Amino acid sequence: MARKPFIAGNWKMNMTVATGTQLIKDLAPLVKDANCDVALCVPAILVPAMTEAAKGTNIAIGAENVHWAASGAYTGEVSAAMLKDYGVKYVIIGHSERRQYFGETDETVNRRVLAALSAGLTPIMCIGETLSQREAGETEAVITRQLDTDLQGVEDITKIVIAYEPVWAIGTGRTATDEQAEETIAFIRRRLAEMYCPKCAEQVIIQYGGSMNAGNCKGLMAQPDIDGGLIGGASLKLDFAKIVNWDK
Ligand code: PEP
Repeated sequence: MARKPFIAGNWKMNMTVATGTQLIKDLAPLVKDANCDVALCVPAILVPAMTEAAKGTNIAIGAENVHWAASGAYTGEVSAAMLKDYGVKYVIIGHSERRQYFGETDETVNRRVLAALSAGLTPIMCIGETLSQREAGETEAVITRQLDTDLQGVEDITKIVIAYEPVWAIGTGRTATDEQAEETIAFIRRRLAEMYCPKCAEQVIIQYGGSMNAGNCKGLMAQPDIDGGLIGGASLKLDFAKIVNWDK
């Protein structure tokens, strides 16, 4: 079965109730005939208002992180059940900014992934190498290590979306070339085939993320193993619709 492409935005710490609602209102008619799944992952505090704004549209609302515990003394955190309460479908886990600025490790990424899955959320699990790791020829070793730990205990890999986000391409305007992105994403799929089974790996949606925009999305989306994008900066404007409609 052909994989359905999936384009997701990551608003990061941007937008307010007013600006977010307006953007969804403006985007909705532009993306309504999309041939892919569409989501916007928004700050937790905006989830209730944005799920309301996206009602009746084909834009699903996702979150940007989730804690692994069901409840408890974790000040400032949000549980999977809290997200589910508002109809959240997707949750980004292990974004490089979380790893870099908030001390998240492959072990905590793994715990979050397991919690999201058991609550029925679809994790968008981010992996990717830094510039120095790429330059040292360590990309495949880094990806292998991340997949091995982040996916520990995950039985059904088809319930996870993977976003390959080379850290050096995020928010930098420096996109991976089509070939670089395809090469690493094809490697990820081969590794998943070894970890699970070839048929399962063939079904996994693997996105590219890192300065993807209206200008470069066509070339990236034409690659056989790239099934979509995780879009940061360009998801804050109407350009997001151009990416969603890359095939038109
Ligand atoms: C991201 O936040 O996941 C991302 C890819 O950001 P940008 O598109 O701005 O590089």
